[in-house]
Amino acid sequence: MEVKADDEVGIDPLLRPMRCGQCGYRLKGLAEAGRCPECGLEYSPRRVVLFGWACGRKADVANMRARDIWWKSIGFAAFAVWIAFTNWQHGTSHFLLLWLLLWALWLVWGLYHRKRNTTDAPRPTQVRLFAEGFAQRDGVGEVTLKRWAPRYSDTYQQIGANRFRFRICWKWMGFEITSPVDIEFDCDPDTAIRIREHIEWCRQQGAHTAGTGCPH
Ligand SMILES: [Zn+2]
Repeated sequence: MEVKADDEVGIDPLLRPMRCGQCGYRLKGLAEAGRCPECGLEYSPRRVVLFGWACGRKADVANMRARDIWWKSIGFAAFAVWIAFTNWQHGTSHFLLLWLLLWALWLVWGLYHRKRNTTDAPRPTQVRLFAEGFAQRDGVGEVTLKRWAPRYSDTYQQIGANRFRFRICWKWMGFEITSPVDIEFDCDPDTAIRIREHIEWCRQQGAHTAGTGCPH
């Protein structure tokens, strides 16, 4: 797996994007704010782009941490062994073969998309946190922003010294209906606090601009 330089994958303490979320252009060394020279997308410390790995229901081979792919593969293999073990006398080898075929397809399909997702991006998934809204997608490219709304709650979890999981969920009567954002990313704890402050700012801005009908 390709290893990218640290300064491309971490998050700038001032929250300036290091890569354009739309085309993957390296923005490091350019002015603090401006337009991407490649695709023209506006960038600034107020337009945060996090690159990381997808978690929870959003995770698949194409966007999760490489380590987790092996854990999920072990799950598939364990089920195959269980089928073989519990049905060995009934001749269920066809079912077992089908299962192994599905596993292989799942892995090949996922790895193909993973390769595409990381061609222009330092990590397979990205989250954009703008005043106009938020979005998560795999790889680089266009997104449709969801407006900040009170029904969306955000949660943070520190899962390592410099590793965080950030989620935006829509819960209804205690049940999670959707989780439009679920990402794991690397950054230092101070920067993580700044990201939380940024989201608070986005929510306030979103409340002010709600109803203007302007998507950008
Ligand atoms: Zn760009």
